[in-house]
Amino acid sequence: MDCPFDELVIAIDGTAGSGKSSASRGVASRLGLRYLDTGAMYRAMTWRMLLDRINVTDAAAVADRADSVVIGSGTNPELPTITLDGMDVALEIRSDQTTAAVSEVSAVPHVREVVVARQREIIDGGGIVVEGRDIGTVVAPDAALKIYLTADPQARAARRAAEMTVEQRRELSAVEAALLKRDAYDSGRTTAPLAVASDAVAVDSTYLTLTEVVDLIVALVHERVAG
Ligand code: C5P
Repeated sequence: MDCPFDELVIAIDGTAGSGKSSASRGVASRLGLRYLDTGAMYRAMTWRMLLDRINVTDAAAVADRADSVVIGSGTNPELPTITLDGMDVALEIRSDQTTAAVSEVSAVPHVREVVVARQREIIDGGGIVVEGRDIGTVVAPDAALKIYLTADPQARAARRAAEMTVEQRRELSAVEAALLKRDAYDSGRTTAPLAVASDAVAVDSTYLTLTEVVDLIVALVHERVAG
């Protein structure tokens, strides 16, 4: 059956803990589109460095190792998968260790070249919702709809803490501080920093439920793309 959104690319960028993943998956499911979590790809790259005991502050060593890494991203929004050199690393990429190192690894320009090339292969042809930090600005600047999603830092920290296991749970203030630190690092890097695309629609999810965020984005798709 013909889908009106067959070639559509929707870019959803935003801060850590803004609810990007749930919103992106929700929109993709609702519209019958594929889904790509680009943060998971940088996390997989970071896990490779940690496994190989590469010092993540050594940009040259990280860049060198990045070339031969093979990252596989399954794009079913109901069941996204992530593999690193053939291994399922869905759990490992969410570890505290990976989260603490990912901003440094993803700031290395050559890492971004390798990962963005892979992202563009997956996005090619469209019919996909892509979430990240630089999708609307760098990876898919021609995306038909760009969303920049944010949430109040305290609400963001609470949301992130709710995703953690009991052992991982920490003081909310510590979680909040970690999110802010990651956003500051991601916004301050030289290559493809976290930034609002000039033609993006800003959405503050602080006081919206997930369903409301998804409804809002789906309405924008109909209004701007289909209508
Ligand atoms: O989205 P998530 O929080 O899992 O992303 C983890 C990290 O990956 C971010 O903090 C950022 O350093 C990096 N990232 C990026 N560009 C993207 C997506 C994620 O640099 N498009």
